[in-house]
Amino acid sequence: MSIISTKPTPIKNDETQSEIDVDETATELLGLQEFVVLSYDIDEAQKQYIFHCRINLDYAICPRCRKVSENIHQYKYRCVRDVSCFESKVYLIFDIRRFRCPKCHKIFTESLESIAFNQCYTRRFEYSVLPSLGGTRMVYRECLGQTFQDVAKKLDMNWHTVERLFYEKACEQFQYSTKQFPQILGCTINLHIGHFCEARC
Ligand SMILES: [Zn+2]
Repeated sequence: MSIISTKPTPIKNDETQSEIDVDETATELLGLQEFVVLSYDIDEAQKQYIFHCRINLDYAICPRCRKVSENIHQYKYRCVRDVSCFESKVYLIFDIRRFRCPKCHKIFTESLESIAFNQCYTRRFEYSVLPSLGGTRMVYRECLGQTFQDVAKKLDMNWHTVERLFYEKACEQFQYSTKQFPQILGCTINLHIGHFCEARC
């Protein structure tokens, strides 16, 4: 196996790490604002790029009380798939952080814009492959008659991703349905005051 590495040292996610450790060219190339690239490996045999990254923000917001926390409780290793480049697979390796909230004292995992919670793909990877699968509507329709696991197996996706896409689409559908409520309300009022209600019902 032929691997070209820009830096053989492992990722350090501590306070002593400075901006000198950041590969600015690779960071710009990656183009995800939440991440800086520390180093990268090119695995020519496997045709894949592996970016060793660090999350750019020093804080996270508690999902329960919305308080900002800078108190890191724990690091957890993550490897996620990103959009392919030059016909090679791209992976991001980084440590996701768990914070302790200074207000409610709960421990929570930070959330990222570029990666949905607990997923092993970036959002842009997910949306790059969805058109070839028929888009979120197709995933939603498949889920109406099968389990998430069955759909995931059929589409070669992670079942958590399938589940999330289903609920995202279901929420969209629900919001669309709620737009119908005022018309129904108007109909009820009209009936109460004795008017005949027609087309709007
Ligand atoms: Zn909190």
